[in-house]
Amino acid sequence: MAKWDVIVIGLGGAGSAAAYHLAARGCRVLGLDQHHRVHTHGSSHGKTRIIRQAYFEHPSYVPLLRRGYELWSELEQAVDEDLFQRTGLVELGPKEGVVIPGVLRSAAEHGLAIEELSVAEVAHRWPGLAAREVHSQAQWQAVIEKDAGYLRVEACVEAHLRLAEQAAATLQHERPVRHWRATPYGVKVTTDDGVEHAERLVIAGGPWSGQLLAGLGIRLSVLRKYQYWYAPQQTGYDQRDGFPCFFHETPAGNFYGFPSIGQDGLKVARHSGGTPVETPTSPHPTDGADQSLIEDYLKAFLPGVGKHLQAQSGCYYTMTPDEHFIVDVHPDHPQIAIVAGLSGHGFKFTSVLGEIACQLALDGETTLDTSLLRIERLRQV
Ligand SMILES: Cc1cc2nc3c(=O)[nH]c(=O)nc-3n(C[C@H](O)[C@H](O)[C@H](O)COP(=O)(O)OP(=O)(O)OC[C@H]3O[C@@H](n4cnc5c(N)ncnc54)[C@H](O)[C@@H]3O)c2cc1C
Repeated sequence: MAKWDVIVIGLGGAGSAAAYHLAARGCRVLGLDQHHRVHTHGSSHGKTRIIRQAYFEHPSYVPLLRRGYELWSELEQAVDEDLFQRTGLVELGPKEGVVIPGVLRSAAEHGLAIEELSVAEVAHRWPGLAAREVHSQAQWQAVIEKDAGYLRVEACVEAHLRLAEQAAATLQHERPVRHWRATPYGVKVTTDDGVEHAERLVIAGGPWSGQLLAGLGIRLSVLRKYQYWYAPQQTGYDQRDGFPCFFHETPAGNFYGFPSIGQDGLKVARHSGGTPVETPTSPHPTDGADQSLIEDYLKAFLPGVGKHLQAQSGCYYTMTPDEHFIVDVHPDHPQIAIVAGLSGHGFKFTSVLGEIACQLALDGETTLDTSLLRIERLRQV
């Protein structure tokens, strides 16, 4: 008999949640991560992640988010901590663009509460969001989703890890997995400290998924991205003043950010673009060109923030060709579940992806509809 029921490779956003759900179902779980607990080398760091339900990327994500919201709430209760701050989210862009029509479509299909506003109404409500350079304001529109906001990203990962341990999971950090192999009885996982055997495996390797899934015939590209914290030069940007999270579709790309939070300042980042990297490494070099795009954006869309940069941090997006996730059982090995390619928008889902990974690994199927996220659509072999 294998020592472990399930091994989880990767204890970041998705893997920490998977380890928790598996342990909560009574499995003997071994979680392995190459880095230390809640580290800054992958994709799940930088204090905050936007969470929203009126999903412009595709309406099929909405039922997953509904379950995700329930699970975040249960997690908050279980660890007695505020993980989800409901600041609301303002999304602004061209009426004929991608974001506004996508939000409206998801909201209509799933009966989600959103408010539609003109650009002028947004500027009236939040003067700090007065978009000076929206050339033809009539062509632009805003939507407000009140039941949106941000997750405290590191606290969420830590909460899942802690609950996994409380449910008797064994979590080993700084123990990289060098290889894994399916066997007639389960899986064999090789590390520098020896080999581990389990009946089942969850692979949640974030930006290292390409290496862990080599041979599967899917193309994952890794992009280096930056997040910046500015000290606003004018008032009105603070979370305590009711300033919301924001997302703009602009001619220069998509940008987003958060209200100013305590001493951290206002975090802002570019969702578009990014520098392709072969192998994820850190620390990240600085990128003056990216920072200058950010400051042009701030000047145009959040004119009172200014240029007083307090901190910056690099991070990785792991992109699939269609920017939808991979959440599935391995096509050749049904004892292996895969969560990968979260394409820069996956953190808000990690609570539900943990539950789904657990179901896929143990039951071979999930109670939620993940047909959009199947591996088969991307396989080139
Ligand atoms: C700047 C930035 C902003 C973002 N903003 C948002 C947002 O606002 N909202 C949102 O929903 N999403 C957002 N995202 C995306 C989201 O953060 C990611 O999709 C999510 O965190 C990915 O989680 P993961 O578990 O796949 O990867 P990670 O959290 O990186 O976890 C992967 C783990 O696997 C481990 N690992 C890999 N290979 C091995 C191995 N061989 N052996 C052992 N361990 C291994 C790694 O060490 C790592 O801990 C953002 C991402 C970035 C970079």
